[in-house]
Amino acid sequence: MQTPFNLIWFRRDLRVADNPALMAAVATGQPVIAVFIHSRQEGGDFALGAASRWWLHHSLTALARDLERLSIPLLTLRGGSLPMLRRVIAALPVASVHWNRRYDPALIEVDMAVKDGLQADGVGAHSHKAHLLLEPWEIATGVGTPYRVFTPFWRKATATVRAEAPLPEPHVQAWSNDLNQVLDGAKATLPLKTLSELNLLPKLPWADGFSAIWHPGEHGAQERLTQFLSSDVQSYRQGRDYPAERITSRLSPHLAFGEISPRQILAMVHAHWNSGMGLPPDADFFVRELFWREFSYHLLFHFPKTPTENLSDEFDQFAWREPDATLLRAWHMGRTGLPIIDAGMRELWTTGYMHNRVRMLVASVLTKNLRYHWLHGARWFWDTLVDADLANNTQGWQWSAGTGADAAPYFRIFNPVTQGERFDPEGRYVRQFVPELARVPNKFVHQPWSLPATELARLGLAGTPYARPLIDLSGSRADALDAYKQRHD
Ligand SMILES: Cc1cc2nc3c(=O)[nH]c(=O)nc-3n(C[C@H](O)[C@H](O)[C@H](O)COP(=O)(O)OP(=O)(O)OC[C@H]3O[C@@H](n4cnc5c(N)ncnc54)[C@H](O)[C@@H]3O)c2cc1C
Repeated sequence: MQTPFNLIWFRRDLRVADNPALMAAVATGQPVIAVFIHSRQEGGDFALGAASRWWLHHSLTALARDLERLSIPLLTLRGGSLPMLRRVIAALPVASVHWNRRYDPALIEVDMAVKDGLQADGVGAHSHKAHLLLEPWEIATGVGTPYRVFTPFWRKATATVRAEAPLPEPHVQAWSNDLNQVLDGAKATLPLKTLSELNLLPKLPWADGFSAIWHPGEHGAQERLTQFLSSDVQSYRQGRDYPAERITSRLSPHLAFGEISPRQILAMVHAHWNSGMGLPPDADFFVRELFWREFSYHLLFHFPKTPTENLSDEFDQFAWREPDATLLRAWHMGRTGLPIIDAGMRELWTTGYMHNRVRMLVASVLTKNLRYHWLHGARWFWDTLVDADLANNTQGWQWSAGTGADAAPYFRIFNPVTQGERFDPEGRYVRQFVPELARVPNKFVHQPWSLPATELARLGLAGTPYARPLIDLSGSRADALDAYKQRHD
């Protein structure tokens, strides 16, 4: 009988170290082949957005290099997951397929169907935990229900997570010539695609600036973490709220694509401080954010309708407004006339990222001042964020809109002027992304419309949204509060 192969099916775990599915496939002692299947339609309502596709292209390029170094061949295909796996299995003798779990509701369905299908075909199908510190079903409240409030979740989660050493890169045996011939024969019968044939990169040059900022792939992720631990983490607790400081880790796209695992991050944080005595407060605060990510996944798993439906049914009758196309477009493109909102939306468009505090502000303006349903924002973020992550995005939008778990109450409406003055006091962030405001004095940079008309004219701002914003902050705030009061009528 021919030596059977074992497949590692890569999805949102694009790394070779601390990859339990890869390790398990290698541990069979039989030859391992990596498979990636681009099945965009399987994401359903949340098929991979444009910025994520840009990231995926570059992340797969990096993964292919790493697999080549380990002498693991990578087969890249496009189509339905189960049909494509079956094509590979028909072309090669395959004993088992290994993968790491994912949690988007539509993808859980796909994975269950794949498992059933492979098992019915007599092929081993093994799923592994790799994306989270805790599986969403591992902890529950005292009465056995899912958590809806962060602090008790966090307490239980930190008490439950065990400190585990991440797995190393696997050591792979070199293949015999016979096996290489079998693989070459199989390849000739498969509808393999090159990376460029997956058509992941945008047709327009919109993402051209991303490469200067981001380094997708496992090495980029490790470098980012090392750099963060050597400097910015020391002022994380205070600094994380100031968008111009760029203090936060920017690991989110690397985490979203599984180029680094939360277990690796935790281990490196503890190793950095040799932390038998506990972590310094700033590092502890950073670790707490990783548990917000765990909380998001816990919520998504237990409330799988929340990517499109309110978690809190209190909002099911809420009078959201039908979006005005011009206003929605102005919000998308950062042309509302509200400086910190425009800076955030332009940061998103030009870099694929937005600072967390500014995400909260732009979400507050959309869902409260404009009173548009949070899904309009969630979908735009989904398409334009390189770190688009269904669990975190859903939780972030529902939190901001007041419809989610442990959410900011709807009546808490951020004022972008006072928030800007507090968290971007010199207007450095605003000026970076809204160059029209470069010459506006600090005192007015978050409310340029308060400048005298002569000054507005001198600065070239007369007749622009910075002389008269498209959104009336106080009027829209009062309207939103009225709508909130009447939500049950
Ligand atoms: C409206 C809105 C939408 C959001 N959409 C996404 C999204 O699609 N993808 C995404 O990863 N995050 C999202 N977030 C959460 C947060 O803004 C980002 O995780 C964070 O800005 C990423 O930057 P960082 O890696 O430098 O974070 P750091 O501050 O360095 O935090 C480290 C990691 O912890 C996790 N984390 C941090 N803050 C949060 C949070 N509030 N909720 C859940 N996890 C968190 C992330 O994985 C992050 O990479 C959203 C927040 C809001 C308010």
